[in-house]
Amino acid sequence: MAEGKMIHQTALSGKSIQRETHRRHKDGRLIPTSVLGYPIKIGSEIVGAFYIYMNISERKSVEKALAHQAFHDALTGLPNRVLFSERLGRALERIKRNQDHRFAVLLFDLDRFKQVNDSYGHVTGDKLLVAVSSRLSKCFRAVDTVARLGGDEFAVLMEEVDRPEQIIIVVNRAKELVSEPFLINNQEIFTSASIGIVIKTDPYQTPEEIMRDADIAMYRAKELGKGYFKFFSRKMYQQTVALVKLETELRQAIDQKQFELYYQPILDVPTQQLVGLEALIRWNHPVRGMLFPSIFIPVAEDTGLIVPIGSWAIAEACRQLKEWQEEFKVANNLVMNVNISSKQLLLPDFVDYVTNVLQQNDLDPRCLKLEITETVIMQDTKATIERLTRLVNLGVRIVIDDFGTGYSSLSYLQRFPIDVLKIDRSFISGSGNVQDNIEIVKTIISLARSLGLSVVAEGVESLDQLDALKDLKCELAQGYLFSKPLDKLSIIELMKDMKRSG
Ligand code: C2E
Ligand code: MG
Ligand code: MG
Repeated sequence: MAEGKMIHQTALSGKSIQRETHRRHKDGRLIPTSVLGYPIKIGSEIVGAFYIYMNISERKSVEKALAHQAFHDALTGLPNRVLFSERLGRALERIKRNQDHRFAVLLFDLDRFKQVNDSYGHVTGDKLLVAVSSRLSKCFRAVDTVARLGGDEFAVLMEEVDRPEQIIIVVNRAKELVSEPFLINNQEIFTSASIGIVIKTDPYQTPEEIMRDADIAMYRAKELGKGYFKFFSRKMYQQTVALVKLETELRQAIDQKQFELYYQPILDVPTQQLVGLEALIRWNHPVRGMLFPSIFIPVAEDTGLIVPIGSWAIAEACRQLKEWQEEFKVANNLVMNVNISSKQLLLPDFVDYVTNVLQQNDLDPRCLKLEITETVIMQDTKATIERLTRLVNLGVRIVIDDFGTGYSSLSYLQRFPIDVLKIDRSFISGSGNVQDNIEIVKTIISLARSLGLSVVAEGVESLDQLDALKDLKCELAQGYLFSKPLDKLSIIELMKDMKRSG
């Protein structure tokens, strides 16, 4: 039944009615109108109906604008997260009905966007986002949804994709377009995007699950560097879950004191006398058994948990050395090496913490050496030099660990108050060419000499390697040839032996 007729009949049946409809204006345009229809009654008899029409074009356009605002990003005009999620939900529904309906989700995150904002200002940052959004939109078809999720994050819902190759072609094109310079306020600005992609969408129940996995893949892409893309895989999810689990367990491990220090002897090369110990942390995991640092230190660094863990290691190593010094005369000449991460060193109260630990244990600061890697000293030079100088003033000495694997130059090293270079084990017992390695070790040793530093070789595994080090006049060494890292009880046995042999 035509709408007008329906309104008329309702009114005639005795009920008033309100509807929104369209009416033709006298200039010929159709305009949205609201119509109110009332019955005309005389006594109890309905004799007709009358209508009030109202032009509601203005209200309609406001409503339309509001609806647009709710579903679109104000800056770029792209669909926003709400609309994207709704379209994704619909695509999921379609796939449940028809397995042939394939789609993919691409999550773009701009690299270095924060730097653009910081160095050029937010107005330029905003212009860049608008420019990126228009380039991205050009890469995709009308059926696809290109959305801005917020910040520098964009998402694309690609509909009707049959083969992954199809996606790779489009993604590469999008990547290239984004990496071409943008001319904003007469300045060339460069950016790139890291992209996470979910293609196997049929196992999902909700849009949130898809976005979670696109995010995981995007972070994996970021780990590779700038401007990479990664397809999400089940394995990635499992690894992420495992990582989250590890983090939770690490927190418990701190509370429940599940860490233990092992100690690797450091020897004087000419005399082969024990001169020091390097404290190396182990985690007695309640289910997985003893875990090596490579399994948990990276996670601890990423999550900041390295701070409490590392603090514990310093305190425990110092407490232990003092205990041994009180029991064994030989331990009085021993130095304890403790590894620290940049996160610890850059804490404002790190030096105070070390000072306190030394005081509480009544330990001579010259018995403590702190090992940092080359990458640490290159992170925040000013703060690092300040911290190291204060530590050195205390009497603590600084070792550059894994030396040779970073990129520090001679002039660079001179600026830091360092005492020891520890040559990375890859040059001592690594798989590289022996002659090349000897040359590198030789260079490091002569570099150390010229800077007045002493040298430790780590990872000495064979007598040949030891002989070579002797020839090169390397002073100190540690490695499996002498001893693996030992637990506390084995160190006590070692000290007892030393006592017996005088
Ligand atoms: P690192 O400080 O370079 O320690 C030397 C690593 O080489 C140790 O591994 C040691 O067990 C191993 N190693 C010693 N001699 C030999 C050898 O002859 N051959 C071979 N192949 N390896 C040898 P570990 O104990 O697994 O420690 C790994 C890394 O974890 C350490 O490297 C250090 O960077 C870090 N780490 C250990 N404890 C701590 C800690 O308390 N705090 C922090 N921040 N990092 C720690
Ligand atoms: Mg070390
Ligand atoms: Mg090392």
